[in-house]
Amino acid sequence: MDFPKRFDVIVIGGGHAGTEAALAAARMGVRTLLLTHNIETLGQMSCNPAIGGIGKSHLVKEIDALDGAMARATDLGGIQFRVLNSRKGPAVRATRAQADRILYKAAVRDMLENQPNLTLFQQAADDLIVAGGQVKGVVTQMGLKFYAEQVVLTAGTFLGGLIHIGLENYSGGRAGDPPSIRLAQRLRELPLRVDRLKTGTPPRIDARTVDFSVMGVQPGDTPTPVMSYLGNVSQHPRQINCFITHTNERTHDIIRANLDRSPMYAGVIEGVGPRYCPSIEDKVVRFADRDGHQVFIEPEGLTTHELYPNGISTSLPFDVQLQIVNSIRGMENAHIVRPGYAIEYDFFNPQDLQASLETKVINGLFFAGQINGTTGYEEAGAQGLLAGINAALRAQGKDSWSPRRDEAYVGVLVDDLITQGTSEPYRMFTSRAEYRLILREDNADLRLTEIGYRLGVVGEERWQAFCAKREAIELERQRLKDVWIQPNSDVAQQLEPLMGQPMSRQNSLEELIRRPELDYAKVMQATGDGVSDEQVAEQVEIEIKYAGYIDRQLEEIERLRRSENMPLPQDMDYDQIGGLSNEIRSKLKNIRPSSIGQAGRIPGVTPAAVSLLLVHLKKRQ
Ligand code: FAD
Repeated sequence: MDFPKRFDVIVIGGGHAGTEAALAAARMGVRTLLLTHNIETLGQMSCNPAIGGIGKSHLVKEIDALDGAMARATDLGGIQFRVLNSRKGPAVRATRAQADRILYKAAVRDMLENQPNLTLFQQAADDLIVAGGQVKGVVTQMGLKFYAEQVVLTAGTFLGGLIHIGLENYSGGRAGDPPSIRLAQRLRELPLRVDRLKTGTPPRIDARTVDFSVMGVQPGDTPTPVMSYLGNVSQHPRQINCFITHTNERTHDIIRANLDRSPMYAGVIEGVGPRYCPSIEDKVVRFADRDGHQVFIEPEGLTTHELYPNGISTSLPFDVQLQIVNSIRGMENAHIVRPGYAIEYDFFNPQDLQASLETKVINGLFFAGQINGTTGYEEAGAQGLLAGINAALRAQGKDSWSPRRDEAYVGVLVDDLITQGTSEPYRMFTSRAEYRLILREDNADLRLTEIGYRLGVVGEERWQAFCAKREAIELERQRLKDVWIQPNSDVAQQLEPLMGQPMSRQNSLEELIRRPELDYAKVMQATGDGVSDEQVAEQVEIEIKYAGYIDRQLEEIERLRRSENMPLPQDMDYDQIGGLSNEIRSKLKNIRPSSIGQAGRIPGVTPAAVSLLLVHLKKRQ
């Protein structure tokens, strides 16, 4: 049967990528359908109930700057907030929140249910309707046909999902959820490169069987941070502590004695796992000289006793999991509520995607999230948002949009994926961005909100709040330039002990803030004025203190941009360009970069080869 209503965009999958994609497309005013296995699992955190952290919070703030859901849901569901790297420079500071998974899910569902232009439907998508290289719609498990010229696929770990616990394995998308076998088979018939990856999760523990008194306590920060630019501490639910304990020699002996029963070491798992989130058996083998590994004990919520022991992800058999858990200090009598497991799944080579996340081979078909070889909610959400924006733009007959590497971590993420591909689950780090000082988590709104408003994905409420903030920053920066403090004045006398020397000449407030021993708060305490909005104060201080570095980075970006943005035609005949090595020629033919900048980032493509491309382009003009 054909579904009676037509849509502009269909999003398959209601995980982190799918919800952001569906919300973004609907915010842009196009008729959107979110088709997912189970409405109860919309916004489900498959693994760790935490959002943000190093590199990842930058993505969350960018999603927020474009009016996405993740940061707002985190403020409504977060039960412990911290700023990591708070003593380091602003480029690497990162907000992280432990979430109550029920409250987080409820917040996401509430946004989805109340989003105009968005229709929800619960059914598995089993097939795509494709005609003449153009996607036309989706067929569900019960044969229902939905039609749309744009389809965003965000099936997470579900495609051909195979769950491993010890040497036993069975099909599943996530513990307790069905896999997508039929859809995976159909997708394998398309001319897209598919491979396998794996990821894992630890057993969950009943808090009533844990002795917290022998563990380290990890409270949240005071004052409590917020995740969204529109967020407010008063939105947060009750805040609670996390805890920390360690594995020990006995834990490691148990693991070593049972490695032959590990599906990974017995060769049952083919997929490659996340290097930066290894299983405990991986850690024990790879770091054989370590006599302990940290285990962070993270509550899963305010209304459940379940705990997430972060650091002991495992796919060893259940009896071994029990021994491992009971060997750890504080968990000697712990009860496992859910066993840990590993899951193998299909992912698509992201080199087959354009920067808009549309596939190169099928018009209107977009991929986002874990199926592109990434790991993590934040990476998935960011891609979903971008794919949703581009699906809507296409439906509106407009050009696609993708941020550059110097505009957003989302730009870095997508460019890395489509240019270099990935052979292991890709996660974001600040070290992946070359322009870290520009791409801070505190200024994602200043980088992206105006663009988002022009694209139509940012609503009026956020736009008005953003404009007021931007104006307040500009006014305060001007005031700090204009106000001068005279030597021997009251203010000078208050500041001199902090400066460790007398003020010998008049100084503007801006000059004073720039001094290493002073900051915005100290100078404002002495003058008795300043702005009360913490976001404005933070921005003003960072812009002043790091002005020299920021300006240098901006100049470098400008220099590179002049040649970077030069487009490379998709029909470019690389065989006609003399001087390229066969290896570089075949890489360029394979990836078909869309700009000189993208060509230069392909591993193995040398600056000399880039110059040859530039010369060739000039000749063609
Ligand atoms: P998902 O969140 O998996 O959502 C996919 C959605 O698509 C689901 O709602 C599903 O029901 C739906 N769906 C699938 N197929 C169909 C279909 N045919 N029709 C309709 N709906 C469909 N990340 C980390 O950062 N660190 C970790 O340690 C980590 N460990 C993990 C361990 C496990 C066991 C799992 C499962 C995931 C783990 N992750 C981890 C990854 C994290 O959960 C994912 O990166 C993130 O959830 C991916 O988001 P997504 O939207 O791409 O997919």
